[in-house]
Amino acid sequence: YLKELEELKDLEAITLDGHKVELVGNIGEPNDVAGVLHNGGVGVGLYRTEFLYMNSDTMPGEEKQLAAYRSVLEAFPDGPVIIRTLDIGGDKKLPYLSLDDEMNPFLGLRAIRLCFKEVELFKIQLRAILRASVYGHAYIMFPMISSVTEVRQAKAMVSECMQELDEAGILYDKHIKIGVMIEIPAAAMTADIIAKEVDFFSIGTNDLCQYALAVDRMNQEVSYLYDTFNPGILRLIKLVTKVTAPQTGLFTGMCGEMAGDPAATILLLGLGLDEFSMSAFSIPQIKKIIRSVRYEDAKVIAETAMNLETGEEVLDYMLAEMKKLN
Ligand code: PEP
Ligand code: MG
Repeated sequence: YLKELEELKDLEAITLDGHKVELVGNIGEPNDVAGVLHNGGVGVGLYRTEFLYMNSDTMPGEEKQLAAYRSVLEAFPDGPVIIRTLDIGGDKKLPYLSLDDEMNPFLGLRAIRLCFKEVELFKIQLRAILRASVYGHAYIMFPMISSVTEVRQAKAMVSECMQELDEAGILYDKHIKIGVMIEIPAAAMTADIIAKEVDFFSIGTNDLCQYALAVDRMNQEVSYLYDTFNPGILRLIKLVTKVTAPQTGLFTGMCGEMAGDPAATILLLGLGLDEFSMSAFSIPQIKKIIRSVRYEDAKVIAETAMNLETGEEVLDYMLAEMKKLN
């Protein structure tokens, strides 16, 4: 079995009838790149940069960030590296940034919201990403977007940083792709509007489930309600994939845990997901499923799944369809 997975490493993630998708890895720090390469990931679909900040006693400066981003980009000369801007707040804190206690931290000053408040912190990171962009295929991704207004605001900050780099004569990729995480239900529901401002989406099912189902993702007492196959979640996902049909030039990825769940693969493929980003060790298994199914069949299966009434029914159906593959 392990040998088979090893053989899969250099093969494409392509269905029996020739539909190609991209399998990439989630990383928290440059050291995680080795695992992605080893498992055949063609790039990084989510670089959680908050670890760079959390594993440090002081705010990481522009040079330190540049070095980290550069090393990841250089590991993937051909593949995308999607760098997510700081997602702190919620359950994650920084020792050198004092924030008020909040009644509902996950609904509070988190991620992009904090970056808009701490403008200098945000700009240092954006400049570091832009400067790193000459070393590979860097993409910028904003977390916790709830409306197109925030997207515009974040892009204005990128433009400001570009202008500063221009004035300083520092090079960067002027066509760097900019996208957003879809992890707040309102963003999924307005994906058609947000699409006009971005190059890509990445669905963050970890938070999307938390917010759409009103289930704290850390609370064991209610974890039985945390169901990625809940038809409400599936409808939100479809609202996003629907917007990014191939002819639009946009793509939709997924970087939440669901992307690495084998029971979800055929469904997500059938819904039109273009990129699956996951923990490195899941890549071979997901690739194997994708290579065993016809895209045309996956679409029909997804359509059927979308008409089921409960998450349990969806899961049972998907497991049954998965068993039929060979
Ligand atoms: C998500 O919310 O699905 C996600 C990938 O981001 P994080 O788990 O870092 O919040
Ligand atoms: Mg998230």
